[in-house]
Amino acid sequence: MINDQMRQFMMEKVRDNFLRYVQVYTTSDPDEEEKTPSTERQWDLARMLEKELRELGLEHVRLSEHCYVYATLPANDAGKGAEPFCLLAHVDSSPDQPGDNVKPRRIENYDGSVITFPDDPDLKLTEEDSPELKEFIGDTIITASGKTLLSADDKAGVAEVMAAMATFRKFPELPHGEIRVCFTPDEEIGRGTVKIDEDWLPKFCYTFDGGYPGELEDENFDAWGVDLKVKGIGVHPGYAKDKMINAAATLSRFIAALPEWETPEHTEKREGFIHVVNVKGDFENASSSFIVRDFEEENNQKRLEFIKELAKLFEKRHPGLEIEVEVKHQYQNMAAIVRKTPEIVELADRAIREVGITPVRKSIRGGTDGARLTQLGHPTPNVFAGGLLFHSRKEWIAESSLRKATEVILHLARLWAEK
Ligand SMILES: [Zn+2]
Repeated sequence: MINDQMRQFMMEKVRDNFLRYVQVYTTSDPDEEEKTPSTERQWDLARMLEKELRELGLEHVRLSEHCYVYATLPANDAGKGAEPFCLLAHVDSSPDQPGDNVKPRRIENYDGSVITFPDDPDLKLTEEDSPELKEFIGDTIITASGKTLLSADDKAGVAEVMAAMATFRKFPELPHGEIRVCFTPDEEIGRGTVKIDEDWLPKFCYTFDGGYPGELEDENFDAWGVDLKVKGIGVHPGYAKDKMINAAATLSRFIAALPEWETPEHTEKREGFIHVVNVKGDFENASSSFIVRDFEEENNQKRLEFIKELAKLFEKRHPGLEIEVEVKHQYQNMAAIVRKTPEIVELADRAIREVGITPVRKSIRGGTDGARLTQLGHPTPNVFAGGLLFHSRKEWIAESSLRKATEVILHLARLWAEK
């Protein structure tokens, strides 16, 4: 179905898109908790995409007042009547590293050696950082110049979705049903879906925001937040015997009583944890916030129960002490919902295989926009976009990965059209 001419077109398109988009400064701001988008600069890329989608002749192209870009590729004859689905990618880049003045650099015919960076002689990208590098010998590797991240997360996803749309327009013989496209702001600060037009979204969606070629994720953490408020009894320290209850000291003993091995630094793969995010306070009042994570909600419930019981125990041990425990569900594991309609992941799995890649099924040790959309009733697994070492100045991507992810979209469209 996909011939060399199409592959050539896709490669040029996705490379050109990617190199242009990464140079647009779109870092989001975690301290902005009210406004969407969190930073005005995200409009720059959103406006570019709106214009390019119009030029491609997509329908119902719209840039919302909150910086979401929407567009529809109508079905062609071969895909008439097929169920629509949506492709999502995010325009913002991570605030963890500088994202302004990104200078992408192509290393053609990569020979497997250590990669150095023109703008930071001390920075090196080695096989130790990324064992995957050796799989891309002979390929073209793209990195930033050393001062910034590359923002392949998620401009790779944006570039791939845009290149796929261009390919559908250029080669109308490629079968596809109706495909919707949505580019979102603020994913990196966990606010990528807050102002999304939920009614416009079709039932099923895919985010193109994963890493290594082949990655396909339909599972993420079940996530809880816990706020602990400790109220002690303050008395003049010289006359405090049998009267004072020191809130800060009591809270530190409380934290010491949490299981030491169930923390982020001691867990991996499918293991869950309690993470102490912060501790504040003095002898009268102290507080702490935890996050609780696991793939099984039942395990998290046990952890929450443990925290509540521990609070009661401390109150009993120190009459007059008050510990208030507030628990909030932050997001849920999408697996329970996504797996009710297994074909959505199976189709992505097949599309990846058709490109000649073995799917790598992974569980996300975090949350995604997809997890939140799934919770809203739009099952949304995550597909690879190809970048590696996200959120770092060593972030890199191989050009072949950009092309392959674009090709996955073409196969996915055909499989949905045949469904
Ligand atoms: Zn991302």
